[in-house]
Amino acid sequence: MLTFSAARDLVIAQASRHFASHPAISLPVSDALGHILAEEIRTDREYPPFNRSTRDGYAVHSAEAAAGRSLRCVGEIKAGDCVLERLVPGTCIQIMTGAALPPGSDAVVMIEFTRRDGDIVSFERATQAGQNFVPQGSEAHAGDVALSPGLRLGFAELAVAAQVGHSTLRCHRKPRVAILSTGDEVVPITDIPGPFHIRNSNSVSLAAQVQLAGGEPAPLGNALDRVDDLSAKIEVGLREDILVLSGGVSMGKYDLVESVLKGMGAEFFFDAVAIRPGKPAVFGRCGDRLVFGLPGNPVSTMVTFQLFVVPAIDILSGAQPRALPLLEATLGEPVKEKPGLTHFLPAQLTWHSSRAHVRVLRWQGSGDISAVIQANCFVVVPADRHDIQAGETVSVLSRSDVL
Ligand code: AMP
Ligand code: MG
Repeated sequence: MLTFSAARDLVIAQASRHFASHPAISLPVSDALGHILAEEIRTDREYPPFNRSTRDGYAVHSAEAAAGRSLRCVGEIKAGDCVLERLVPGTCIQIMTGAALPPGSDAVVMIEFTRRDGDIVSFERATQAGQNFVPQGSEAHAGDVALSPGLRLGFAELAVAAQVGHSTLRCHRKPRVAILSTGDEVVPITDIPGPFHIRNSNSVSLAAQVQLAGGEPAPLGNALDRVDDLSAKIEVGLREDILVLSGGVSMGKYDLVESVLKGMGAEFFFDAVAIRPGKPAVFGRCGDRLVFGLPGNPVSTMVTFQLFVVPAIDILSGAQPRALPLLEATLGEPVKEKPGLTHFLPAQLTWHSSRAHVRVLRWQGSGDISAVIQANCFVVVPADRHDIQAGETVSVLSRSDVL
């Protein structure tokens, strides 16, 4: 059986092979968060565009502003003022943060280190040329590459685009991910469940995980454990870029997802992974669509999505697959698990004096979503390390929305 990292590598290899870059779309910057940039953005002018004061104080010629010297203040410059006149020798100008230094000045003296008497300003400390301003062009020159294609647009990237004058951006379309839960016991969350029904929480968590990963969820509701209903709904799901199913991939008599997909011509790249939770996870393609069958237990669904579906969404978004967010931490209490599978155990990571400590939480197994609420990560117990002592260093997979 494949290890989770070998299974993940297979997803990356197959998704890369089948990804045909979607035509880029133009989006206003306000709608581009989380998209992958499809064009190169260059800086339109020098940054900063003028010598920009970083302090409130006085613009001076440094040689005239030694400790104990005085200068006459002849005016003030605030942010946004047009500054063309040269600083006259023997004078200084009051200047505000963000304002342009006047020609002829080469330093700003912070107001805190001056005394003022009428229009005479005395300096209390030595003044160095270049202090307290950012020189014109020191951050970027006109024509520099500000943002490269393939970059994921976060808030800082959008700010740079805005700064250099791009109010719209060419981006890759987000991949659409069809979400289909399965199970005769699964009912819509708006229904009152019968005594043996389960509300469809997986479709909700999967849609949220798709959005966090940079995809666009296309929820298709639930299919009954019947060949006709499953095939009809899978067919609809295959119109999207990726189809993610939950449930129906175990060994039970009514676990029909794999056989129905097979009947529709699907090819599988794996149909089990050596992990718990999540062992029955399947990945394949049907025509030119990628298909994931994730086990239906809610925590299995969440973990296998993070391990296997996220890299496929990355690639179909036009990005490099993100590395798994694995950290190292000191284990608080001993852990004992069955060997042979890599275990992902809901856990709480905390920092004490910048060192990461992790404590595995009590849980009732992969149906226990409430344990994941307390958790900000999963301790990864390797297949060959079933007995780990307190104080040992362990690998931890962060829960990507909270850590
Ligand atoms: P399965 O993978 O179909 O064998 O389902 C395993 C367990 O997950 C069962 O206890 C199901 O009731 C539960 N389950 C399956 N689908 C969902 C869903 N959409 N939402 C919440 N729980 C589910
Ligand atoms: Mg089922």
